[in-house]
Amino acid sequence: MSKDLDERIERFAKLLYKSRYPVFFTGAGISTESGLPDFRGPDGVWTRRDKGLAAEPVSKPWDSFEPNSGHLAIVELQKIGKLKFLISQNVDNLHLKSGIRPDLLAELHGNLTKLRCSRCEKTVDQSSGKKTCPCGGALESSVVNFGQPLPERDLSLSFEHSEKSDLFVAVGSSLVVTPAADMPREALRSGAKLVILNEGETPFDRYAHVRFSEKIGEVLPMAVKRLKILMGLE
Ligand SMILES: [Zn+2]
Repeated sequence: MSKDLDERIERFAKLLYKSRYPVFFTGAGISTESGLPDFRGPDGVWTRRDKGLAAEPVSKPWDSFEPNSGHLAIVELQKIGKLKFLISQNVDNLHLKSGIRPDLLAELHGNLTKLRCSRCEKTVDQSSGKKTCPCGGALESSVVNFGQPLPERDLSLSFEHSEKSDLFVAVGSSLVVTPAADMPREALRSGAKLVILNEGETPFDRYAHVRFSEKIGEVLPMAVKRLKILMGLE
């Protein structure tokens, strides 16, 4: 490992160690390392669908994709009390599949495996086969398409936790589209430290206290390992 990367991991781990309210935000970049295509990238499934184009064929069924070491590192943070909330733009269900508690997660763009009630916003598993919510509302795909409003509850929880955070970690998102871009702004305004892990540039790079463009599935586990040593857990 380069000395520079080692030093940034150390700084990231120390920020996590000191943080009392760490909030994570994830985008497609964390899941592309599981082999998933980027849904909203230039050639992503939803981007193409919004343009009326057919989706690029996916090599495997959606539910056969597995969480990777990046997802698992976030679960590890949950276990040791270093995850107050997780906001995700991903619809691939990999955070829940990896073991993230549903009450700690907001899925801003919905979830491929879930239906949402058009009246009360409650979600149910698609596999249940239900078409109507107990409240009488119709159950529809929870995935948010371009131009559709985001789920209100997930959105308000995301803002609430971003505002409370003292450390905001953005993972695998270009942080360009709103409301994604509003969350780190909200956190910074409240005095939070910002850490960014993303391959490409983001408009928030100059505000980042630590910045990684290396592989998420390598950086996150290393930072968590270092954190556990600081906490005396390893
Ligand atoms: Zn309902």
